[in-house]
Amino acid sequence: MFKVKAYATPAPDAPLAPFSFERRDPGPHDVRIDILYCGVCHSDLHQARDDWGGSLYPMVPGHEIVGRVVAVGEHVTKFKAGDLAGIGCMVDSCRRCEPCEAGEEQYCCEGFTGTYNSRERETKNLTFGGYSEQIVVEQRFVVKVPENLDLKAVAPLLCAGITTYSPLRHWKVGKGQNVGIVGLGGLGHMGVKLAKAMGARVTMITTSPEKGKDALRLGADEVLVSRDDEAMKKARGKFDFLLNTIPVGHDINPYLALLKLDGAMVLVGALTALDPVQGVNLIFGRKTVAGSLIGGMAETQEMLDFCGEHNIVSDIEMIRIDEINAAYERMLKNDVRYRFVIDIASLKA
Ligand SMILES: [Zn+2]
Ligand SMILES: [Zn+2]
Repeated sequence: MFKVKAYATPAPDAPLAPFSFERRDPGPHDVRIDILYCGVCHSDLHQARDDWGGSLYPMVPGHEIVGRVVAVGEHVTKFKAGDLAGIGCMVDSCRRCEPCEAGEEQYCCEGFTGTYNSRERETKNLTFGGYSEQIVVEQRFVVKVPENLDLKAVAPLLCAGITTYSPLRHWKVGKGQNVGIVGLGGLGHMGVKLAKAMGARVTMITTSPEKGKDALRLGADEVLVSRDDEAMKKARGKFDFLLNTIPVGHDINPYLALLKLDGAMVLVGALTALDPVQGVNLIFGRKTVAGSLIGGMAETQEMLDFCGEHNIVSDIEMIRIDEINAAYERMLKNDVRYRFVIDIASLKA
């Protein structure tokens, strides 16, 4: 075991504060990583404050991790000391069920083991995330990070990137398609960049004309302001695919009207109840509403390689670890473009 410094929250209503704990020494298949940067996901805030129930304390959040390998176990073949490495939302799964066998560990029938706010499968010890100096993870759940990218801006790809990449790939988004990204935040801004790089014509669908302008800067071809009834009417039946990143329950009926025959809308943000969906909005036009959760490990690697090739990273604002509580407050006000990333050097100092 070895000691690491971290930031943790002891209870739902307490701020994050300095904390230290012990991590296991790398086993034969483990990789020990010195963390450089950790993105701040909206789910960090929700889990730290127990918004979804069942949170485990003390909690060290963080599942958008980029670092360098410092040691590997004797059976590790994928990594050696000095390699760049990334860790996302999962650190383990049963590895035997149908989804695991298919490389879709995020849908593991036994539930995947979260990078934090979860328990290790064998020891039942709490898992602690990336607001810490180092982490030890089995090589299957570690991905290679392309050397050519800006590392601090790579961190959010490990959650926001894969969450948007996976449905775009699964529904085969590409050239000749009209794709709408609903909502411009951490997820939405990645959706714009990735769908554009896949060759689609991309429209940002947002309530705010000002955010729309920013979406054009990010690469969107068009903006549709969802509060503009005339514009919404004009866009009826236009889209092959909608990626809905709105983080709370809402009325999806107006968006369904935007889909063409056989169009699909995929939800990646809202975990809570949606307003009632009118059957007629699905039946007329054979439309689909679906959901999608992060992505498997192989697909996460594919996403990072794709981003390396197309030079795609997240738009970020760097913070020191002692600014994390203020960052959470700003996230509640949507005051970030589009992801905070913690410089873990500030934790080691
Ligand atoms: Zn996340
Ligand atoms: Zn499984």
